[in-house]
Amino acid sequence: MNLHEYQAKEVFAGFGIPIVAGKVATTAEEAATLARELGGTVVVKAQVHAGGRGKAGGVKLAADPDEARQHAEAILALTIKGIPVRKVLVVPAAEIAKEYYLGVTLDRGAKRAVIIASAAGGVDIEEVAAQTPEKIHRFHLPGPTGFRAYQARAVALKIEPKPEVALKMARVLQKLVEVYWASDASLVEINPLVLTPGGEVVALDAKMVVDDNALFRQPRLAAFREDESELAAAARTMGLSFVPLKGNVGCVVNGAGLAMATMDLIKHYGGEPANFLDIGGSSNPEKVTTAMRIVMADPDVKAVLFNIFGGITRCDDVAKGILTALEELNVNVPVVVRLTGTNEDIAQRLLSQAKGVESAETMDAAVKAALAHAAGRRG
Ligand code: GDP
Ligand code: MN
Repeated sequence: MNLHEYQAKEVFAGFGIPIVAGKVATTAEEAATLARELGGTVVVKAQVHAGGRGKAGGVKLAADPDEARQHAEAILALTIKGIPVRKVLVVPAAEIAKEYYLGVTLDRGAKRAVIIASAAGGVDIEEVAAQTPEKIHRFHLPGPTGFRAYQARAVALKIEPKPEVALKMARVLQKLVEVYWASDASLVEINPLVLTPGGEVVALDAKMVVDDNALFRQPRLAAFREDESELAAAARTMGLSFVPLKGNVGCVVNGAGLAMATMDLIKHYGGEPANFLDIGGSSNPEKVTTAMRIVMADPDVKAVLFNIFGGITRCDDVAKGILTALEELNVNVPVVVRLTGTNEDIAQRLLSQAKGVESAETMDAAVKAALAHAAGRRG
């Protein structure tokens, strides 16, 4: 689960990492009021689960409340990397002498958490990593304990030669490492961590990704998930794994492996999946109906492909779910169904009368049929 900057900053502050506190607004008027309360120059920042907000025009300095209103209005109208901006953070502007990058994430290859630090922080960090990788320093952590102050100082000194500044940075780094472990995070990041002209070290941005599987023991962090879409919430409560994608073939599959193989085959034949959707192993018609509702909510979907291998999942339950979906939802695109395994004969009988549903014997045939429908090559 991704946290918004303002949420991650709240967590960071709780661990003693210096941040600039601000407030969140959902309208331009509110942003202007906040700017007036704060006084002086403020920064208006889009709160979306996407990086590169600065480059997308989602981070703007405002000298007065009027300007804050104008920036907030423009930012609240933005869509950054496909996500509409619904909230802005208004914070007092900090002065920047230098921008650094500090992060802790999981290095799966090394099976260790790793600190990533760079003196070249800021909005171009991706280019720094790609073009001058030597400017990025890494330090693997032994585990949840055992990261020592002298090690933090050694990392800090790689990105900041002045000992008095490096010492402040080392303290931030130690706290960031604490946040990482205490939060079951897969990423904690400060970019930029800045040095102010007055010699203070402050986190101007904060990013946090928490392992979804640990949310049950992170109730405080789980509570941050206030702005999940209704569909994402439905998928989660129904136990569906859903990832929206950019194509036009909606997919409903049981099992993550089969779902990926289905997407591969769609790509193989020149198509694009509209989503990844694993309905899981158990059979429950309601799950199937919910899956269909989620897939049909995407206006780009031109055909829906069911690929079900019935083991524990019973094909007749899936068929019942499809029939309910056809009754309850406005399914205005062709549905191609490949159902094989447990109770497939019952399933075929149930679906034989359904309008707009085409059965395919094999996965290959089903994918080809769905692609033909999506391309408008079949009636
Ligand atoms: P990101 O682009 O999504 O990573 O958003 P950031 O929060 O990192 O902001 C992007 C850039 O805006 C930063 O790298 C800074 O250069 C600038 N910025 C952000 N906050 C402030 C601030 O308080 N003062 C100044 N002068 N610049 C800021
Ligand atoms: Mn940033």
